[in-house]
Amino acid sequence: MKKVLVLGGGFAGVETAIYLRKQDIAVTLVSDRDYFYIYPTSIWIATGGVTREDVSVPLDKLAMNHGFELIVDSVVRVEAKAKE
Ligand SMILES: Cc1cc2nc3c(=O)[nH]c(=O)nc-3n(C[C@H](O)[C@H](O)[C@H](O)COP(=O)(O)OP(=O)(O)OC[C@H]3O[C@@H](n4cnc5c(N)ncnc54)[C@H](O)[C@@H]3O)c2cc1C
Repeated sequence: MKKVLVLGGGFAGVETAIYLRKQDIAVTLVSDRDYFYIYPTSIWIATGGVTREDVSVPLDKLAMNHGFELIVDSVVRVEAKAKE
């Protein structure tokens, strides 16, 4: 099975991980946040209408539902040739 490492747990990373899992590709997603943050609705945090938790989705739930592995940590360096 092909394996893909996805860096970042925002819209782009999460959508990529879900899309690749639907192609039966093994996915590991690395994000320095343990939650997916919905920016458009964040404007209501400033007005006190919602909390950060209200406009976030835990990444571990998304990982479990869509079958990708999750690593919560910072990416500090990419070694393309070594695939690390
Ligand atoms: C207030 C606001 C409202 C918006 N409204 C809209 C809208 O209505 N419609 C629309 O289409 N777009 C909207 N956007 C823009 C949209 O949110 C962005 O285009 C989108 O979030 C970009 O997605 P992304 O995955 O590339 O980046 P991000 O969503 O920024 O995700 C990046 C991810 O990578 C992680 N990360 C970063 N550095 C590291 C590292 N070194 N190691 C590990 N993880 C790392 C972060 O924690 C994050 O999870 C809005 C943005 C804002 C700020």
